[in-house]
Amino acid sequence: TWKNEKGTQAGYQKIMETGKALDGVEAGAWVPEADPNETTVGYGGYPDRDGHVTLDACIMDHLGNAGSVTFLEHIMHPISVARAVMEKTPHVMLSGAGALEFALSQGFKKQDLLTEKSKKAWLEWKKQAKYEPKVNIERHDTIGLLELGKAGEIAGACSTSGMAFKMHGRVGDSPIIGAGLYVDNEIGAATATGHGEEVIRIAGCHLVVELMRQGKSPQQACEEAVMRIVKLTQNRNKNLKDIQVGFIALDKQGNYGAYCIQGGFNYAVNDNSGNKLIDSDYFLK
Ligand code: ASP
Repeated sequence: TWKNEKGTQAGYQKIMETGKALDGVEAGAWVPEADPNETTVGYGGYPDRDGHVTLDACIMDHLGNAGSVTFLEHIMHPISVARAVMEKTPHVMLSGAGALEFALSQGFKKQDLLTEKSKKAWLEWKKQAKYEPKVNIERHDTIGLLELGKAGEIAGACSTSGMAFKMHGRVGDSPIIGAGLYVDNEIGAATATGHGEEVIRIAGCHLVVELMRQGKSPQQACEEAVMRIVKLTQNRNKNLKDIQVGFIALDKQGNYGAYCIQGGFNYAVNDNSGNKLIDSDYFLK
């Protein structure tokens, strides 16, 4: 998702080395997670309204193994903690203080993730803040990666600092298997970005994969899932203009697609022909 060409490139290189899609998606997520200028993922992510950077991430492999962390503070690479949850515990999700405790027990280093830049933006926001965080279609940029390994197996990862200036404790779709990410090795995979609440409402990424199972192309499946959100939003008398959600999907044959509500969403694709950034088609024209 988004302008993450360096991430897709790192993922591609990793797959060339180890062959494994799971290694690729993790390596790809590391790039924005470590980038202080990327204000929506990992280190340098915008904090919640109380000034805490809290991170959500999940990862899933071709066997249905999955790991997730929510509301995690102080760890630069939540995606790797999610992978450790998957590989080293009998659980799928760990949250908050428990997730941090687990991360530290696995040798992850505790760090301050709030950069000067993000702190400044938060202090600026606080001047106007009407207590509840205002929904702003620019303030989100979750990184979601879907990759095929050398054996044709598929994996996915998703990592975010969530909505900027959110309520303390708020968790979005990104660490929720079936909402922000879903992988089914028989069919394909999907990941999401945008207003997590809307994605959760329709169990978005599981829906996209199931639509592909019914014969839809990745593009058609993303479009239908977005239309589901459009319909629900209208039924609930909410303004669609205040919402952005984008889905990307990849099938086992390497076909991919994307669709979103508002213009401005793009995604990077790295295959044997190189790395490119593609503007997603969208509903609200
Ligand atoms: N989906 C993320 C969340 O709701 C944020 C985003 O992608 O913009 O936390």
